[in-house]
Order: sequence, then structure tokens, then C-alpha cells
Amino acid sequence: MTPTAGERVAPGVEDRLRTDLAAATRMLVSAGILGYSGHLSARTADGEHLLIQAVDDVRAELLPERILLVSLAGEVVAGSGRPPSELPIHAEIYRARREVGAVAHFHHDPTTVFSLVEGTPLVPVKNHASRWAGGIPVHPDPSHISTPEQGRELVATMGGAHAALLRAHGEVVVAEDVLTLFADVVHFVENATVLAQALRLGPVRALSPAEAEQFDATFRRDRHARKLWSYYSAVASAAGVLPEPWTGVQGGAGSR
Ligand SMILES: [Zn+2]
Repeated sequence: MTPTAGERVAPGVEDRLRTDLAAATRMLVSAGILGYSGHLSARTADGEHLLIQAVDDVRAELLPERILLVSLAGEVVAGSGRPPSELPIHAEIYRARREVGAVAHFHHDPTTVFSLVEGTPLVPVKNHASRWAGGIPVHPDPSHISTPEQGRELVATMGGAHAALLRAHGEVVVAEDVLTLFADVVHFVENATVLAQALRLGPVRALSPAEAEQFDATFRRDRHARKLWSYYSAVASAAGVLPEPWTGVQGGAGSR
């Protein structure tokens, strides 16, 4: 969807976005990617706000109605509780990059380890890591990104990249909507995991930009994201990770 400044957010659209965000959060907890910290956000249809969970809400039990509506200046517009201290990661990326509709920040150690070593960068090796063929920068600041200035420094490090490592801290992944973000996060940690395994076996061949471009031409991102969402939401529903009423909104149109 193309956000238009000043456009009213239809309640149904925002409700569905909230549900997709809560479902994605629960599924990433279940997949071992999110834990007691880390957070997802989504830009609202008006383009000027974001939805993000309250800092103290448990990721594994996140409820759509608990998610906060926050301005890009960081002011809570609706909801009770306070946003995570690292809200500036999300807000400053949305302010700087109009193409971004959803942001994930998480602390997945098997991926973060690539920010700890010299000379062994996190490079795309699996085909679905083609998304990051343009590079995965490492942001040098190892502290929490808790001020707007720090958020802008991260934005500067990222440039146009679709993901970054935060040194000695975690990861940031950006996408156009919640469903593609979910798929990207899954593929991002898969790529880091298999890269670590491959490095133990011998020299690694990264995907070249040309190979990545060729692979991207073989599938549609939105359809692939829906495929992953369908799989993970079905597994999560069967396991009781998602409440029964949510299963009807998997792949909800409100998140695209
Ligand atoms: Zn963090």
C-alpha cells in the first residue's frame, strides 16, 4: 500500500495490521529468533505513525489490542504502556526511508556472532539471501540505540541496505510489509546459520550480485512471503502459539 500523508487509517486495516504484527512476533518467538527482548513494528496506512509493542509485554503472548500507536516523533498516540527503549531504531528508519513499511530488531546470537569477528563478514550464501546481495553493513555502536541521534547514525550506516548487524548487540531487518519482513527475518538467520556451518568445512562462495539478481527473477517476493506465512502460521496454530480466531486472518491484506 502507498501511504498518503493525512489519510485516515481505516479501523479494519489497522486491526488487521495489529493482528499480523502480533502473530509475526509470536511466530518468531516460537522459531527461537525473538526472545525476552527484540521487537517488530509496522508503518500505519497514513505513513506517519508506527505500531510497536509495549516494552513490558511478553512477546510470546502479545495481543493485537495491546500494541501501541506511536508517532514517528516517538509520542504514544494510543495504547497504554511505554514503547521499547530502542524505539529510535524503528522511528528513524521510517522517517528516513519511505519505502520501508516494517522493521524488525532482534538479538539472535548465532547471527550476531558475525559482528564480533574481523575478516569473516556475514555474506549471502543461501539463494534466498539474495535480498542482501548489496551488503550487510555492521553498525559500530555496541550500545542500545535509544536516542534519535543514535537512530540517525544507524540509518546512515545502513544507507539503502535491507539489513544491518549492530556490533556486539543484534540485527535490524527492514521490508515493505509485515509478511515480507517475517520471511526476510527467517531467511536472514537461516543464512547466518548455514554460513557458520559452511565456514567450518572450507572456503565459502558468496552469491554474486548477478546471481542474486538472477535468482530474484525466479520468484515473487509477496507470494514467497505468503507461502512462509501460511506454513509458520499453520504450525503455530496447531501448537497453540496463535489463538484460534487469528487463523482466519493469516496473510491479512492489511499488512501489504
Ligand atoms: Zn537491541
